[in-house]
Amino acid sequence: MNLGWALRFIGTGASNGGTLGHSAAVLERNGEPVLLIDCGQDALPRFHDTYGEWPRAIFITHVHLDHISGLEQLHGRIALGQADPVRLYVPTPIIRQLHERIANLPHPLAEGRKNFWDRFRFIPVAQGFWHEEHWFDVFEVRHHAPGFAHGLRLSGHFLYTGDTRPIPEVLRHYAASDERIFHDCSLKGNPSHTGLDDVQREYEADLRDRLVLYHYESEAAAERLVEAGFSVARPGQRFMLGAARHMHAPPVLSSVPATNGSAAVAPGPDLSRRGFE
Ligand SMILES: [Zn+2]
Ligand SMILES: [Zn+2]
Repeated sequence: MNLGWALRFIGTGASNGGTLGHSAAVLERNGEPVLLIDCGQDALPRFHDTYGEWPRAIFITHVHLDHISGLEQLHGRIALGQADPVRLYVPTPIIRQLHERIANLPHPLAEGRKNFWDRFRFIPVAQGFWHEEHWFDVFEVRHHAPGFAHGLRLSGHFLYTGDTRPIPEVLRHYAASDERIFHDCSLKGNPSHTGLDDVQREYEADLRDRLVLYHYESEAAAERLVEAGFSVARPGQRFMLGAARHMHAPPVLSSVPATNGSAAVAPGPDLSRRGFE
């Protein structure tokens, strides 16, 4: 029995995945899965291998296929009665993109005349959401375009950036309760992702000490990140999360930065570039 909160990575790789798997993590409580963060191509079989069941709640950070393509498999399993309907938490700025990428077919399955979303409990998210009576903050990160990608925080326990460039000002605001910070990082950065030199330049020592890096390009890259002095998540690895020092409730509206809830952002022409997902 693993008491308390933990975050287990079922994949830690970039869009090429491979043996690392596509980046996805599961928030656990007392050893039980509570919330899956992202659902790429291999997330579902890895989740099932780990827990012997299908996920019941998922948060989506953004619509690159290494983070959402498993939803199609899940839809099929729900439709065929093999899995229960899933609570799907989706930031409002990416709803249209998500629909257009995976759910816009008139006949998503041969079986039955139903819409793709009939199989899910779809929950739009702005500044955050309640899940199992805990409040999760959602905030915009830097990945391709404004409003395109989002991170997640459970106050006092963890912050998960999703795919992003460095966001020091966001971490200072949202990771102010000593949360463990799980952060996108490759050995070599690019216009859409963080690299080792970015982390060393953009974050002060107290933030760097709290980082756990994931979404890297290879096992060799992970070794180099470790040699540089960083904690690195490996596929299957579980991180115990500290106890919250105070109860947390949704922020009052007047103090919420105006980063979420903006109009849906149309995908720019660079979204189809390979290797930057
Ligand atoms: Zn990605
Ligand atoms: Zn991405």
